[in-house]
Amino acid sequence: MRPAILDRLFAPVTTLPGIGPQLGRLFERLTGTLVVDLLWHLPSGIIDRRASPPVRALMPDQIVTLRVRVESHEPGAGRRPYRVVCSDDTGTLALVYFNVKGDYLTRLLPIGAERLVSGRIEFYGGLAQMPHPDLVLRPDEGDRLKPIEPVYPLTAGLQLRSMQRALAAALERLPQVPEWIDASLLQRRGWPGWAAALRRVHAPGEAADLLPTDPARERLAYDELLASQLAVALVRARRRRRAGRTIVGSGVLTGKVMAGLDFTPTAAQRLAIAEISGDMAQPRRMMRLLHGDVGSGKTVVALMAMLHAIESGAQAALMAPTEILARQHRETLARLTRPAGIEIGLLTGREKGRARDALLAGLASGLTPIAVGTHALLQPDIVFRDLALVVIDEQHRFGVEQRLALAAKGRAADTLLLSATPIPRTLMMTAYGDLEVSRLAEKPPGRQAVDTRTVALERLDEVVAAVGRALAQGAKAYWICPLVEQSEDADLAAARSRFTALEALLPGRVGLVHGRMRAAEKDRVMAQFSDGPVELMVATTVIEVGVDVPAATVIVVEHAERFGLAQLHQLRGRVGRGARASTCLLLYQSPLGEVARQRLRTLRETDDGFRIAEEDLRLRGAGEVLGTRQSGLPTLRLADLAAHAELIAIADADARLILDRDPGLDSARGQALRTLLYLFRRDEAVQYLRAG
Ligand code: ADP
Ligand code: MG
Repeated sequence: MRPAILDRLFAPVTTLPGIGPQLGRLFERLTGTLVVDLLWHLPSGIIDRRASPPVRALMPDQIVTLRVRVESHEPGAGRRPYRVVCSDDTGTLALVYFNVKGDYLTRLLPIGAERLVSGRIEFYGGLAQMPHPDLVLRPDEGDRLKPIEPVYPLTAGLQLRSMQRALAAALERLPQVPEWIDASLLQRRGWPGWAAALRRVHAPGEAADLLPTDPARERLAYDELLASQLAVALVRARRRRRAGRTIVGSGVLTGKVMAGLDFTPTAAQRLAIAEISGDMAQPRRMMRLLHGDVGSGKTVVALMAMLHAIESGAQAALMAPTEILARQHRETLARLTRPAGIEIGLLTGREKGRARDALLAGLASGLTPIAVGTHALLQPDIVFRDLALVVIDEQHRFGVEQRLALAAKGRAADTLLLSATPIPRTLMMTAYGDLEVSRLAEKPPGRQAVDTRTVALERLDEVVAAVGRALAQGAKAYWICPLVEQSEDADLAAARSRFTALEALLPGRVGLVHGRMRAAEKDRVMAQFSDGPVELMVATTVIEVGVDVPAATVIVVEHAERFGLAQLHQLRGRVGRGARASTCLLLYQSPLGEVARQRLRTLRETDDGFRIAEEDLRLRGAGEVLGTRQSGLPTLRLADLAAHAELIAIADADARLILDRDPGLDSARGQALRTLLYLFRRDEAVQYLRAG
């Protein structure tokens, strides 16, 4: 149960004075339903009212607070606004009001009176004016003026004043909470306590107070990150307590397959294989992510794990997100395992009738030790005799439930997740902190960097000619047309017309593959590309993941400016897979926006997926980098994964240490940390603590 001291923060915003149902709906949409959500809504700027120049020296757009005398009123007429002429010893300015009703201005600003007015200055016909002053006060009310005011992100219908008033009321409710941050860390960083930090971030004194490096902002960011990493650590700890099974291979199959490889595994691959078999040998459930850029050689590592399971008398399954990929995996695995003579079943939406029945029988009896397939593997009539290892390729394309559903077909099955999306280390900790991770950071030797160039679309003819020359020398090439989800039809039409145009130049040698095709059709066309007469494959981004045609050495991406950095990197990874030099031509529509320009420059400069990921994170933000289906990423309100990267590492180390010392969070600090978890709605994580 949530500690009672948090109750007043977990009440609806409408319980705050002055927020009725109507305003409440605006707040709910903008910040969230509860008072605590409002507190997390941090200022995005300040209004500095401290300038108080003589009227003669006023500058346009300046925000000023002036002490003036009211000289005269000039009521408006028609489209002419109401003007109240005021002066100081140096000159005059007009306070300008539109749509004035009644006589409130004559009461607010009586002729002859002194007033403090604050607002933004404009010039009109050479004269200074202040349209709709933010504040008009009597000289004796000066203490009501705040020299610096916070500015908040707002929404239509919600005034800054309402936001400020609501926040002031919310801050009144801050409870006295026990300190959950380690005392020495707090001292070292010079961070304020929790309530003080909240009061400070909502009362910035200067623009620098809004920076992520401000101690109060840092503290709150750290709170959020600590809650997040602690929650992740609790999930990890709970999983480690669940019983698994001990898988120890004989080495017979892995030895044969290793001996038959036409390459030597890299040190990174060997380490990953050792880490995985180490996990499998433990009587715990393995949940490991094998993380490596495209072409880093994950397949053979996954295969060794599967063989390991089979050597111990059990079965393994590999699930891929598309039919093309599943088919390709099956072929690759069949080729690699030939020396060991292992039956590898394929199951996609296309296997039907007798072939399917035979496969199902093989899996149920155990005669077929490996099943490769798409999500068709999840069908309820698919039963394994003894599934011990589940491998999920391109794991982010599957939901958590799908991953679990496949593992549920086994008995305490281990899981190995594969990911080709390079992720910055910090993001890894927040999104996948509950997993063990093996990383293939280096690519196999002998790869040449892909020569990457950017070309304006106006030079399309030259590009077509260059591709023609490459094909004449025996190359194979991809030609990628962008697919923007909003209008699949229009994009498809563009891809078709590109195909038609190229086919006219290279009759019989051009193929077209796109997302609307049936899987069988896609495979047929792709096969004609990898081993048949097709030399130039026009494709929408369906080929993005995993597809392996080593002979392809040229890739052209049309409208590269429409793709994200990571996506372009993945596309480029389709070439440069063999020993021959490869080229990537990024065609762009000019003029390029600044972000697009930076993206293309990054791609020209590096093919290091991890560097590209860091850059992507900087340009687009974390949610985008990981994709929407990524279930692991917490939504952060106070921390900024790019700006606070350093704090993530500290929070992660802290969380691990805390659970090592106090796994039940029973100590005094442990109790405080429970409050922190509830504050950030990690109730579920606290339950894990209970369940033991
Ligand atoms: P990915 O990580 O993208 O799945 P793959 O497993 O498909 O990468 O490997 C890409 C290519 O590199 C394959 O053709 C594979 O045979 C080859 N490969 C894998 N490991 C090595 C290695 N250690 N040395 C040379 N080539 C390798
Ligand atoms: Mg792969």
